[in-house]
Formats: sequence, C-alpha cells, structure tokens
Amino acid sequence: MNPSTEISGSCHCGTVTFDLTLSSGLDSLSRCNCSMCRRRGAIVVSVPLASLSITQGEENLSLYQFNTKTAKHYFCRTCGIYTHHQRRSNPQEFAVNIGCLEGIDPFDLGEIVTTDGINHSCDQKAR
Ligand SMILES: [Zn+2]
Repeated sequence: MNPSTEISGSCHCGTVTFDLTLSSGLDSLSRCNCSMCRRRGAIVVSVPLASLSITQGEENLSLYQFNTKTAKHYFCRTCGIYTHHQRRSNPQEFAVNIGCLEGIDPFDLGEIVTTDGINHSCDQKAR
C-alpha cells in the first residue's frame, strides 16, 4: 500500500460512510485487551483526527463512553457496527475499525500488535 492513501469505509448497513487518509499506510495497526476492545474484537488503525471525515450518516452514530470517559467510541445505531473511536492515549487521534475499510482484509495482515489496554497508564491510580 502507498504511504499516503485515500480509502473509504462504511458500517455494515451503509448508513454511515467515511473517508480516511492513511498517511503512513497501515503501519499503526493494533488490537487491544481492555474490557471494551476484547469484547469488540476489532483491529484498528490510528490516524490524526483530521484524517477521518464522516461523509454520510453522522447523525446515526451513537456515542459510548465508560470509565474515565476520555475515549469516545462510535457505532452505527442501526447495524451496531463500531466504526471508530477517539483514542484515550492520544485524543488527537482516531482509531478506525479496519474491518469497515474497502478493499482491506483484516484476516490477511499477519501479526498485529496488542495494546496492553487492561493495564492502561491512565488507570494506574484507580487500581
Ligand atoms: Zn449501520
């Protein structure tokens, strides 16, 4: 994949669509073992906030927040598919569900880094 790539994505029912600019390809793929991500199971790519634009259906996105309520998790209220979230570790970034991206096969990516979200530095005081 080219270093800088425009790619489009959508939820399952197609109500929510978005455009994504990947400035460094799929270099920053990760999954995470926190209480949310281990249930969700998505592999994500991290991008600067400005690199994601919702092109359709923004009003159909639900927002879910928990714990420190820093991260903002968005999903389609019709089909339930998680599209993206604003990251807690770096609120200047979105993490985007690569399963929603056109032309990318999440099962064909090799080894994916697992973020140790269950031991997140933002939670250490509360434990
Ligand atoms: Zn949908």
